[in-house]
Amino acid sequence: MTYQADNTRYEKMTYNRAGRSGLKLPAISLGLWHNFGGINVLENGRAMLRRAFDLGITHFDLANNYGPPPGSAEETFGRVLREDFRPYRDEMIISTKAGYYMWPGPYGEWGSKKYLVSSLDQSLKRMGLEYVDIFYHHRPDPDTPLEETMSALDLVVRQGKALYVGLSNYRPKETRAAAKILKELGTPCVIHQPNYSMMNRWIEEGLQDVLQEEGIGSIVFSPLEKGILTDRYLGGITPDSRAAGPSVFLRPEDLTEERIAQVKRLNDLAAARGQKLSQMALSWVLRDGKVTSALIGASKVSQIEDAALALQNTSFTPEELGQIDEILGY
Ligand code: NDP
Repeated sequence: MTYQADNTRYEKMTYNRAGRSGLKLPAISLGLWHNFGGINVLENGRAMLRRAFDLGITHFDLANNYGPPPGSAEETFGRVLREDFRPYRDEMIISTKAGYYMWPGPYGEWGSKKYLVSSLDQSLKRMGLEYVDIFYHHRPDPDTPLEETMSALDLVVRQGKALYVGLSNYRPKETRAAAKILKELGTPCVIHQPNYSMMNRWIEEGLQDVLQEEGIGSIVFSPLEKGILTDRYLGGITPDSRAAGPSVFLRPEDLTEERIAQVKRLNDLAAARGQKLSQMALSWVLRDGKVTSALIGASKVSQIEDAALALQNTSFTPEELGQIDEILGY
């Protein structure tokens, strides 16, 4: 059936400005790293994209290599865009990235101009787009001069293939250096995409200060620790969960007894706040206004609905914050 977006879609979502740019992002964004590949059920992906958009989630995050197989998440997204979202393109922020391994030979990964420009051209074809809203360098390249990588980002903006550029997985010093070059080129870095969660707080040690000083926004990935910070694993590993699947990024051995004991205590704390643990985990990354958007993954429509409801309570008492720190050993 033809998709008609919900008329109330902008009523409940919060939109935050990315740093000192003109770009606003929803407090919750949806990433297509898992569950949108060629191996997944297309109709489930379509249902998740529709529900997300109906809830005011205007931002969809991709990368050249998302799948599996690599590239197929962009193909899935391109198909659903073409079939469902054509009238809504100007209401959407679509991002992609290049940096990790994508094709064989010396031009298929890292940070050369050759790789970045060809990869973005391929991504645009797979998604059937003329431009993406945000193009990221996905990880720093220790061997290519930073000037070359940044000038590739500047080039694609000048060519009209991207509106904004961002950096992902760059450490504080690299971020500052890259931001300086981009500023000089006239294409400022608008957003940084690092990982961040209650269990992984590295960005608090330096990166957030750099982003604040440089006026760069942040969209944090894996705020649910890939599913650990949810009720997913409280009763063991079910066959439909990420830990049971082929992803090498979350394995059954990551779910130690000690981890699960912490998660159970966090789950009780969330319940006392009237939230699910997944909602408390999202509220936590958004708690102090430093993060522009929490970038979630999902395998089911209901998980996206859970995430949107997290915004009903993003403030914490000092006691609650203290309890979270104590449970996690901070
Ligand atoms: P999350 O930490 O949000 O984990 C998502 C997973 O958590 C889901 O797939 C689901 O697992 C589980 N989950 C989500 N909501 C619920 C819920 N309400 N109840 C129970 N379980 C839930 O993030 P991801 O690790 O998926 O990363 C999010 C996005 O960030 C990616 O799609 C990608 O766009 C981006 N990313 C960027 C990286 C980079 O280098 N720049 C690296 C990694 C991610 P299950 O499948 O088991 O149901």
